[in-house]
Amino acid sequence: MNSVTLHNIKIILVETTHPGNIGASARAMKTMGLGALRLVNPKLFPSADATVRAAGADDILSEAEIYDSLADAVGDCKYLYGTSTRKRSLQCEVLSPESATNEIINVMDNDINIGIVFGRERTGLTNSELDLCNKMVAIPTNPEFSSLNIASAVQIICYEIIKRSLITGQDNVSAKYENTPVDSSELARLYAHLEQCLIDIDFLDPLKPRRLMRRLKQLFNRTEMDQNEYNILRGILTAVQEKIKQK
Ligand code: SAH
Repeated sequence: MNSVTLHNIKIILVETTHPGNIGASARAMKTMGLGALRLVNPKLFPSADATVRAAGADDILSEAEIYDSLADAVGDCKYLYGTSTRKRSLQCEVLSPESATNEIINVMDNDINIGIVFGRERTGLTNSELDLCNKMVAIPTNPEFSSLNIASAVQIICYEIIKRSLITGQDNVSAKYENTPVDSSELARLYAHLEQCLIDIDFLDPLKPRRLMRRLKQLFNRTEMDQNEYNILRGILTAVQEKIKQK
């Protein structure tokens, strides 16, 4: 197994309340050969509880990267999967752990960071956090009792990753895409530009935004937009803005 590539899979825990769950997630990752842990605003970290529950996966805890927001934590990721138990009214494609990890193994490459995002113990991920993700992953569970402990969810996803990476043999995996997608931070700039442009042309009323931007983000999140396509769209938006300024 090529651990360099597996290191490009970032397990991202958002606002975890119990430090023990961070430790247990680190243990779950290490047993499956993953090592890159990112924490967004953990309530308490570092912590003795986390270290105890890591049961020897202390290296993952000490190397964990800490961020103030999910947007910052995923800025360098090209593919983002949000994990969730719940169906949302407006949501992107929902994959099984098998399908998601198949995709992940297929696109994995040394230059590509992939993020898998896990939510808060009580409330999961917010809609705007899920809107950063290209796809959602739901682990099949009892519909009447569907919520797993977060470290158990991490364990299942990481298990699917190691299973597939052993099957495919990491060394044979190369980038399947000639034009790899732009990073999440670039998409965030595009969305801000698009929103401003839609306001400038009176298509979007900032006082009554409804779900327009969410729908547009989900549309673009599905496209795996490459740098060329990104530059074209930014260029179009700039041209529209210049034209209306001249009028
Ligand atoms: N009540 C919350 C549950 C949070 S459980 C909710 O409805 O979202 C904490 C985290 O564990 C979730 O945000 C998700 O990242 C993960 N998780 C728990 N059960 C899961 C499942 N069945 N499928 C995918 N992720 C799950």
